[in-house]
Amino acid sequence: MKRNKRALITGITGQDGSYLAPFLLKKGYDVYGLVRRSSSDPFYRIEQLRLPKKIKILYGDLRDTASIDRAIAESQPDEIYNLAALADVGISFLVPEETIEINYYGVGRLTNRAMTANPKVRIYQASTSDMFGNAKPPYNEKTRYNTTSPYGESKLKAHQDFVEEYRRRYNLFICSGIMFNHESPVRHKNCVTRKITHSLAKIKLGKQEYFELGNIDTKRDWGYAGDYVEAMWKMLQQKKPDDYVIATGKSHSVRDFLNAAAKAIDIDIIWSGKGLKEIGKNKKTGKTIVKINKKFFRPTEINHSRGDGSKARRKLGWEPKTSFNELAEMMAKSDLKLVRRETS
Ligand code: NAP
Repeated sequence: MKRNKRALITGITGQDGSYLAPFLLKKGYDVYGLVRRSSSDPFYRIEQLRLPKKIKILYGDLRDTASIDRAIAESQPDEIYNLAALADVGISFLVPEETIEINYYGVGRLTNRAMTANPKVRIYQASTSDMFGNAKPPYNEKTRYNTTSPYGESKLKAHQDFVEEYRRRYNLFICSGIMFNHESPVRHKNCVTRKITHSLAKIKLGKQEYFELGNIDTKRDWGYAGDYVEAMWKMLQQKKPDDYVIATGKSHSVRDFLNAAAKAIDIDIIWSGKGLKEIGKNKKTGKTIVKINKKFFRPTEINHSRGDGSKARRKLGWEPKTSFNELAEMMAKSDLKLVRRETS
């Protein structure tokens, strides 16, 4: 009897993993997830898949070769989605060695062990628009790399050495999604979009007075994670492995996101002042709810990031379905519900 296709997802407990796992289950895959040990509960995003045993959890860490070998031997994957990473740009400045250990050497361990076990395995590597740094937007697959952070640097090295080079040298079927920012209601709370929606929800419910941000005029190309995981899968179904920019093609500032998220839960923000003195007030209450703090500015900032996803559109037939305003509204309303539940 023909067995189901098998997928091994590293980083299954993260934002993208929690969208990719149900997506692949729906496609009929047997889904395995590599999870590292944690002293707190790492499963809250995928509880509804883990408890009824829809997915199989394998303990392991990209820093530990034996655990990678065990996960590969147990799952016998046809496809590997390598989503595991230290994925926080700000934190990567504080722990650059750990960043390179996971995001570069970890990718090397995984690709080498996977290729040894099965030279025909198909691998998706989560690359990032941060590899372009401050290039002139829009960025496509031919834009020169110019990273500005340890995170971008670690991802770029992995992209060059284990994606581009292993494809050329070993004919390995490895693809990368050069993904621009993608968000969702389960984004980490220290990512700016989620920090905004979670803080706004607490302010709306009287649980917080204000919150602080860094550069609110920096612009990003923001999409919805639920849309982006489909592109990952599509890449691995092509005849040939390749790299694809995955983006919406539209950019908005942090301020735009804040205004859109606030509006979605009936908060109007009035801005006044300049630079570090700028504040955002709640029009209805007259209270200051947003302040600027130098602490949240990055040592090196990407000012404007916008992708050109025309190759993915042409070759994969992939397009984002969720608009910027829909995304902001989805996140703001979800956090309002969450905070209401948590505090009732
Ligand atoms: P995320 O929510 O931070 O998830 C990262 C996952 O990696 C978590 O499950 C984490 O486990 C796991 N992990 C970290 N270190 C590990 C290690 N040493 N061994 C095994 N697992 C480890 O990130 P995401 O937003 O889902 O992003 C998924 C991937 O896409 C990442 O590689 C990221 O760099 C890349 N990417 C994301 C975006 C975006 O906008 N979201 C854009 C471009 C590229 P714990 O739960 O234990 O921490």
